[in-house]
Amino acid sequence: MKLRLAAPTRLIDLADIGGLKGITIQPAGIELGGMTPHRRVAQCAEVRAAIPALSSLAAGIGDLQVRNRGTLGGSVANNDPAADYPAALLGLAATIRTSTREIGADEFFTGLFETALEDDELIVSVQFPVPKRAAYLKFRAPGSRYALVGILVAQTNAGVRVAVTGAGAGVYREPRMEAALSDTFHPDALDGIEVSAEGLNADMHGSAEYRAHLVGVLARRATAAALENGG
Ligand SMILES: Cc1cc2nc3c(=O)[nH]c(=O)nc-3n(C[C@H](O)[C@H](O)[C@H](O)COP(=O)(O)OP(=O)(O)OC[C@H]3O[C@@H](n4cnc5c(N)ncnc54)[C@H](O)[C@@H]3O)c2cc1C
Repeated sequence: MKLRLAAPTRLIDLADIGGLKGITIQPAGIELGGMTPHRRVAQCAEVRAAIPALSSLAAGIGDLQVRNRGTLGGSVANNDPAADYPAALLGLAATIRTSTREIGADEFFTGLFETALEDDELIVSVQFPVPKRAAYLKFRAPGSRYALVGILVAQTNAGVRVAVTGAGAGVYREPRMEAALSDTFHPDALDGIEVSAEGLNADMHGSAEYRAHLVGVLARRATAAALENGG
């Protein structure tokens, strides 16, 4: 609404719907309620132990006020091209549970501020499988702390996944990097992979070429961080 992208005549406050809140930890994964604020995720010791990359991603969103008010479901439904959570969902192969169905992250994010959600569909929760190792790194826009580029690299039971936010019209995967890291999960495996600037965002914060450069640099650093912290 602030960006004038929507001008609804009626608003429904979801804040007091208990079933949309909460954190459930299972051996194979974590389920976060759609109305769970970023700060709760960042402060949850069980999330930090199971998926440290998810914990640090939540801790790096905006500032304290934003983390207190902003919610997982709001971030994901909004699908801002520079938001952090979309990289976590895509990189960790999460499943979005809605009021009517389950949607895999690969099918959920459909474009700039667009998702597979129907108008009357609510995000109830998001299920994150625990990866073997993962790390999220972002290069912040200094004013908002949104990602100029953010990368989540994960070694999962479904293979290696590299998800990029901030660089393009929406979050996307880097198949060439995924293939190289599947062979050898090491930053050096990414040597020689040139990231094209074609189609990437260019604005007052950085050119498309700068963002392409950041994708390469952050992918290497995130791979090293994943090897170091194991999660
Ligand atoms: C100054 C500032 C800095 C920020 N920095 C960052 C940052 O660094 N990284 C980052 O990722 N984000 C950042 N954000 C975004 C923030 O994290 C919020 O998640 C985002 O603004 C959405 O707000 P909200 O969660 O309150 O959702 P709302 O604004 O309430 O909702 C957003 C949209 O999602 C829909 N929606 C909300 N909940 C659901 C649901 N459960 N199911 C279906 N649809 C739903 C709403 O109808 C609406 O269309 C920043 C925001 C501000 C204002």
